[in-house]
Amino acid sequence: LGDTTIPSLAQATAQRLPDKPALSVDGQAMTHGSLDAAAASAAGWFAERTRPGDRVVLVGPSSLDFVRCYLGVLRAGAVAVLANPTYTEAELAHLVRDSGAVLTVSDMREPAGAPIEPVGNPDDIAVLAYTSGTTGRPKGVPLSHRHLLTSIRSAMAAWQWSENDVLTHCLPLFHQHGLSGVHATLAAGSSARLFSRFSLDELTSSMRSASVLFAVPTIYERLASAPEAFAGLRLCVCGSAPLSAALAARLPRVPLVRYGTTESGLNVGNPLDAPRGDTVGIPLPGVHVRIVADEIQIRGPQVFNGYWNNADDPFTDDGWFRTGDLGVVEDGHLVIRGRSKELVITGGLNVYPREVELALEEHPAVVAAAVAGVPDERWGEQVTAWVVLREPADLIAHARTRLAPYKCPKQVVVVRSLPRNHMGKIARHRLRTPLRRATE
Ligand code: ATP
Repeated sequence: LGDTTIPSLAQATAQRLPDKPALSVDGQAMTHGSLDAAAASAAGWFAERTRPGDRVVLVGPSSLDFVRCYLGVLRAGAVAVLANPTYTEAELAHLVRDSGAVLTVSDMREPAGAPIEPVGNPDDIAVLAYTSGTTGRPKGVPLSHRHLLTSIRSAMAAWQWSENDVLTHCLPLFHQHGLSGVHATLAAGSSARLFSRFSLDELTSSMRSASVLFAVPTIYERLASAPEAFAGLRLCVCGSAPLSAALAARLPRVPLVRYGTTESGLNVGNPLDAPRGDTVGIPLPGVHVRIVADEIQIRGPQVFNGYWNNADDPFTDDGWFRTGDLGVVEDGHLVIRGRSKELVITGGLNVYPREVELALEEHPAVVAAAVAGVPDERWGEQVTAWVVLREPADLIAHARTRLAPYKCPKQVVVVRSLPRNHMGKIARHRLRTPLRRATE
């Protein structure tokens, strides 16, 4: 799989299974054959406007047209820059400037030109993905066909993905989690039913005739009210953000939690036959994982080569990718404890926000909790919790029964909801203000 390009792979699958349903988005469907023909014609259109290696920004919600454009850009040998359609004008301008794009496509009418054969090699850059920007400004991550395909290959091997699988999800395609499902579908010759937004009715009715579900914890939160929709699925994958023990317990079955980053692809996942909700699992085939001074570091053919247009060097001297995530190995399974940038240092001691959040979430009144450090003259940083509550509760007293005193929140702020990004990740930088002292 690593030795080809995404459009060549799609073409080979289309020749093998021309009439097999490939993708549907919001009910609009295409077979592998018709998708490949549309990609060939879109590629002709892009080839008239770009040269191989040129960047093309694609900005729009998930749609069949988006997929056609994506495959067309890649088939023409150009690079797809994937943008979040909710970006403001200034954010989009940063992406266009930073990527040096020659073309931005936002109105995805079907681009049609004279069909062309796939252009390019496995090591050419296929996608310039931007990180979510959870911890700072989005950074460009150049990913080659080989990076993307070896990443999904590891997961497909571990999850026994076959031609008979039917994937469903409503994750955005501008993010690697959602896009990796398209790559798996093209690689295996399987089928995928996708949605451009979350609707409980649409997703649960699609789940009833699917075999695989991809979702993030905020979506599982909503799906917990429809346990019967899980009955026919052979695999439910969960990732991109931490799954809380409370949510895992409310689901009709434990999802297969997996871990990865935009930069390093899919890296770690629970075993297919015995998934556990409290760890992200074991390294996927071909991936090497080590922990150095609490930080998770990754090596493997799916790891990118460096940021685009950015001097940040994320590699160790011996070539491992520094994820910035903190972890420990328990019983041979990786447990994520948070991110180094989110570590709270209070009175010189390290507090992992995730550990405090887990302790708070054990209280029955807590719907969700987020913990961060707030600057403090005496302590450097003060452990502060933002919580969504079902009913009033003394969370500081509760925390004292679970955690050493220095880890206990000094303040608890009750909020109606926690700020989250499109993948359901807590946007901690938006937690800090406004800060008001709440009843404890
Ligand atoms: P930025 O780097 O700009 O802050 P980001 O890291 O959020 O953005 P992504 O590459 O989308 O961008 O997210 C990768 C991160 O998501 C990982 O580093 C990790 O912190 C988190 N993550 C992914 N899967 C899991 C998981 N199963 N459990 C907990 N955290 C996860």
